[in-house]
Amino acid sequence: MKIPAKGQRPAEVLGALDEYRKSDVDWKEGKVFGFVFHANEEATELVEEAFVKYMWENALDPTLFRSILRMETEIVAMCAAHLGGDENVVGNFTSGGTESVLLAVKTARDWARDKKPQIKKPQMIVPITAHAAFHKAAHYFDIEAVVVPVDPKTFKADLNAVRAAVNENTILIVGSAVSFSHGVVDPIREMAAIAQERGILMHVDGCIGGFLLPLFRRLGAKVTDFDFSVPGVTSMSMDLHKYAFAAKGASVVLYKNKDLRQYQIFTCSKWTGYTMINPTIQSTKSGGPVAGAWAVLHHMGYDGYLKVAQQLKDATDKFVAAIRASKDFEILGDPEISLVAVGSKTLNIYEVVDEMTLRGYHLGPQPGLDGMAANFHMTIMPQTTPNIDDLLKNLFEVAEIVRQKPRSEMMAQIKDFAKTLDAKTLDADAMQNLLSMAGMNGVGIPERMAEINELLESLPRDVADKLLAGFYNELAQYRKA
Ligand SMILES: *Cc1c(COP(=O)(O)O)cnc(C)c1O
Repeated sequence: MKIPAKGQRPAEVLGALDEYRKSDVDWKEGKVFGFVFHANEEATELVEEAFVKYMWENALDPTLFRSILRMETEIVAMCAAHLGGDENVVGNFTSGGTESVLLAVKTARDWARDKKPQIKKPQMIVPITAHAAFHKAAHYFDIEAVVVPVDPKTFKADLNAVRAAVNENTILIVGSAVSFSHGVVDPIREMAAIAQERGILMHVDGCIGGFLLPLFRRLGAKVTDFDFSVPGVTSMSMDLHKYAFAAKGASVVLYKNKDLRQYQIFTCSKWTGYTMINPTIQSTKSGGPVAGAWAVLHHMGYDGYLKVAQQLKDATDKFVAAIRASKDFEILGDPEISLVAVGSKTLNIYEVVDEMTLRGYHLGPQPGLDGMAANFHMTIMPQTTPNIDDLLKNLFEVAEIVRQKPRSEMMAQIKDFAKTLDAKTLDADAMQNLLSMAGMNGVGIPERMAEINELLESLPRDVADKLLAGFYNELAQYRKA
């Protein structure tokens, strides 16, 4: 494909985009969970307007675009207050949860290089339920992620395991509030006490839960202590492009004080260009996401958010009660906000997910790792709440269909074979075979995912990772339509 030889009129270009977009999921229908958080039409339109107003401004230089810095510091102050922080808490606006997490880990690394120079191979403790972004951070910044298990009933970090894993190389303990996978808050108070006792840092990942937890608590829900009011918590991450309903590209990373934030900031005076001060990973960046987030916080207000939280809480309570009363499904753990993981003792959950996809519902399959049950995940959002009854009805119908479906003998054999694979000896051909065996031939996205998910779950983790990278590597390549 080449850049068109002759330029096209705006109407033609926009028409082509509308045509392209027909292949995307229609998130406003409220049958896809996560991905797009939409409170109501008015809020979404306001975010759009504010975003567009600032989309060409460049946050790279706060001396030229002073209002972006002003909005950023105001957003950070609002978030710090929401999370029990005092006036010493500082932070930055980032492009998303991943960037917030990456920065918190990088800051911890650079803090340790300064304060604990004897540590040559830094480690951080991550419960198995901590977001994959921490593994990405470990990978990018050369820190060892020491994975600890969670309690098999509560899905909260196992405190004894955390205590046992801390050693003289540990620089950081990570807890989630809430974990994405199960929607529960780790025992933050106890974990932070361990960090404090050992003189190390404690990050609380509130990317998805941080915004809602205080609102749910205000509504009377039992919420585990998780924020800056807990002694020993030194940094937090919280996304605004999730339950604060900002447009994507909006999150904050917060630190207990400026001394700690100092380690986050990258400067470069060694090159021939402009004076470089980069507090975050991006350098040139649009003012759009900042303005969108600032606008929605002001428009919704605490009262508006509380109303939405009530709507989410009611829908979640109803869903959880119906699942707990069913014979086939179970809620894993005791979710503290509107995120639920649903397992089954009687049915293949991956088949359930596929059948629901055929009915237009996009549930998120999660693997059964470390002895945990495979399950599906739902991020309940305002636009999905009207569909809860219909979803439950479909789920119970689907249960009967899956129950009747014969189990494939083949799959059991493939899974046994999968367990024996070794990432080091898995060459391109073997990988291609494995991909096609699972129905992932690369040219396109498979319709049914159950077998693929089962296969992925059975593989050694490093083989699964290599396979996933191989799949993407095939998928993301231009092919003539
Ligand atoms: C979403 C999420 C992240 C990562 O955020 P992105 O915005 O997707 O980069 C990190 N931690 C938790 C708990 C999350 O839910």
